[in-house]
Amino acid sequence: MSEIKDINLYKSGNDKIDWVASYMPVLNLIKADFEKNKPFAGLRISMSIHLEAKTAYLAKTLRAGGAEVFVTGCNPLSTQDDVAAALAHDGFEVNAVHGIDMEGYEKHLEKTLSFCPHLIIDDGGDFINLLHGKCREYGKNLIGGCEETTTGIHRLKSREARGELDYVMINVNDADCKHLFDNRYGTGQSTLDGIMNTTNLMIAGKTVVVAGYGWCGKGFAMRAKGMGAVVIVTEIDPVKALEATMDGFLVMPMEKAAPLGDLFVTLTGCRDVIRREHLEVMKDGVLLANSGHFDVEIDKIALASMAKRSWERKPNIMGYELNDGRILNLLAEGRLVNLAAGNGHPAEIMDMSFAIQARGLEYLAKNGKNMEKKLYSVPREIDISVAKEKLKAGNIAIDTLSKEQEKYLNA
Ligand code: NAD
Ligand code: SAH
Repeated sequence: MSEIKDINLYKSGNDKIDWVASYMPVLNLIKADFEKNKPFAGLRISMSIHLEAKTAYLAKTLRAGGAEVFVTGCNPLSTQDDVAAALAHDGFEVNAVHGIDMEGYEKHLEKTLSFCPHLIIDDGGDFINLLHGKCREYGKNLIGGCEETTTGIHRLKSREARGELDYVMINVNDADCKHLFDNRYGTGQSTLDGIMNTTNLMIAGKTVVVAGYGWCGKGFAMRAKGMGAVVIVTEIDPVKALEATMDGFLVMPMEKAAPLGDLFVTLTGCRDVIRREHLEVMKDGVLLANSGHFDVEIDKIALASMAKRSWERKPNIMGYELNDGRILNLLAEGRLVNLAAGNGHPAEIMDMSFAIQARGLEYLAKNGKNMEKKLYSVPREIDISVAKEKLKAGNIAIDTLSKEQEKYLNA
């Protein structure tokens, strides 16, 4: 029995799903293929990933392949109740409610695993942690799973290095058709979109401080520059710092950037990137947002302790007034601003990420029983096939090597 906010919201959820489906050509092709070949016949799939329209369409694609699909979110603030209602109305078991507390969120994760899935989709490692601990018994049928994001992959790698990975997992994040597009262009656009929609303020003319120049940071810095901002990058990695310099950005430590910025965005996967000493010297009216994994990149506990008062200024904007009257504004509680205060990455991007997910699960359904309990890369042929389909859908042709060229390159 699904636990959702309100089943009556299903109509608007269906509209959202229909809309994104018409911009996800690769997933549409995969869906048609799955309908014919039923790679998941007799299998159960549990998913923990941001529950919004594109994810719902992935769930439908997997069901088209013969799976029984169980759905929950991976962050209480990114769950869209109307989309959850649409899936439940369509016969899926859905356990997710927008804004639920951590206890309720975890209960939903556990319930979604309690169906003893054969395959899982994880985003950030919440499922895999439970399957190694409290919910180990629910892993008894597990053939394997796919992990969506950078931080989840870091955790799986640490687990594997400690000799503590008890399941077959596929690293979706590191597929080219995932991070090159999703982390970079997806985060670039959707982070700006979340900030602009929430604040209704200008980007042009602002000094924007971008913490972290990895795939996400690069994408965001590029788009902020394109919108007319002056961009400062902070990094801890010397190579990435150099790259940012040569991409035309100012690079400096957060300590130096803190008094200069109007908008701060963290995209590091690290913690305490913006701390008390930085908050203390910021300008009145600054905007603070995070688009990295957890709500620990900005030290919001320090922020709250420094404030003489705090109040909700607008949905998803908390104002913190300091003793000297300056107001610092924290967006979306310091959680992923693009998903908690927006709709996440656009459909065309999730088309590719979820095509990799769908093909990754298909690969596991076929081969997982003979694979070792390790973290695997996505097979290169899957990556290439997704790129080819995406090009084809956009009517983009490319050249092919002649025999002579092949010989020349391989000489
Ligand atoms: P990445 O490893 O490519 O980049 C992270 C960068 O942050 C690295 O260059 C690293 O050196 C830098 N960094 C680490 N600690 C830092 C610190 N204290 N100060 C400054 N820089 C620091 O990872 P990525 O793929 O860009 O992902 C970054 C985070 O965003 C991860 O947590 C990932 O899970 C998350 N993510 C979010 C979205 C989204 O939709 N918002 C999408 C994809 C990934
Ligand atoms: N569990 C974490 C999740 C990290 S989110 C949390 O606490 O919120 C990072 C991942 O979200 C990215 O790898 C990206 O692929 C995914 N994502 C971004 N936009 C999305 C969308 N519209 N729908 C589903 N997933 C999305």
